Amino acid sequence: MLLVSEPVLGPEEKAAVAQVIEDGWITLGPRVAAFERAFAERHGAGDAVAVNSCTAALHLALEALGIGPGDEVLAPSLTFVATVNAIHYTGAEPVLVDIESLDEPLMSLEKAEARVTPRTRAVMLMHFAGHLAERAAWRAFADRHGLLLIEDAAHAVGVPEVGSYGDAAAFSFYGNKNMTTAEGGMILMRDPALLDRARRMRAHGMTSNAHQRLQARSVQYDVVSPGWNYRMDEIRAALGLVQLARLDAFNARRSELAALYRGRLAPLQARGALGVPRPRSGASADHIFPVVLPAGADRNAVAAAMADAGVQTSVHYPPVHELSYYRDRWPELHLPVTEEFARRELTLPLHPKMTEADVERAARVLEAAMQPIKGAAA
Ligand SMILES: *Cc1c(COP(=O)(O)O)cnc(C)c1O
Repeated sequence: MLLVSEPVLGPEEKAAVAQVIEDGWITLGPRVAAFERAFAERHGAGDAVAVNSCTAALHLALEALGIGPGDEVLAPSLTFVATVNAIHYTGAEPVLVDIESLDEPLMSLEKAEARVTPRTRAVMLMHFAGHLAERAAWRAFADRHGLLLIEDAAHAVGVPEVGSYGDAAAFSFYGNKNMTTAEGGMILMRDPALLDRARRMRAHGMTSNAHQRLQARSVQYDVVSPGWNYRMDEIRAALGLVQLARLDAFNARRSELAALYRGRLAPLQARGALGVPRPRSGASADHIFPVVLPAGADRNAVAAAMADAGVQTSVHYPPVHELSYYRDRWPELHLPVTEEFARRELTLPLHPKMTEADVERAARVLEAAMQPIKGAAA
């Protein structure tokens, strides 16, 4: 089966993990600190805080920024539910916004503008598929309304300008992301004092961690803020250091494969039988390769035919406002473009282990699976 995504792990990762076990200090310690420094440098930041997931990173960023009950946070509904859950954790109200278009499935600035109220405190961007939200336009939007600007950068690790849009950015190292630590995440924040606050909140709001107390020969600590256990461990940090060094090569390969797909699917697209969202600017982390089937096409039948032919597909995403828990909170909310995109979207395999022949095979299998759709046959 050609999978939608696969981690790339090899002898270097194996050796790095084995070395942690040799050394014996397995949780938050010098490797986590080294991973934070390397990650910050990679994104042109002064410092970073490693945590055990992107969900934790989003939550801590919001908490460190002081977002809480009574506040509203704008976010796209076309995202993984974690984006919205993290806002919900703080007691703030997520306000979900429609996407721009089927070709540009990122949160619409105009539609966000229409949902700003006196309670709006922040806007959460998500770089869907690795395609970047428009930095200058969102920066101006946040400034115009006096809002905090946060990036859910789970899809866009390694793209230089990502992480620098506004007040905070959260990254994911889950197994299907562009680089992985199995589970893991990272926070960047513009204000070093707030990043320190996030660092304390990562470990129960404590003023020192076990490794620091060992170094300082001290047994004392205090708790000075609310906190959680969102610590990263040394095994994951060791994996992260290796993966980070390989990230440019991974992302370059993803871009090559995405370009091949675009060329290969251009005839279907030209006939109007397939939509292929593409980045507005050149920069993309090409995290996933979404296509949009014709209106009324039986997506389940296409996915099943492709699976029968050995090609896995998936859907990004069921809109958050249509998931039962959030549907019950906001029964009246409709986001027509998001809903249409989510009905018609199919995600094709894209990961750095794929060959050019794999892209050709996935495209051929997609074409064959689309044969029964009116207007799709050549
Ligand atoms: C994967 C993902 C997350 C959550 O990441 P975890 O590290 O699994 O918590 C959040 N937002 C988006 C857009 C994602 O794709």
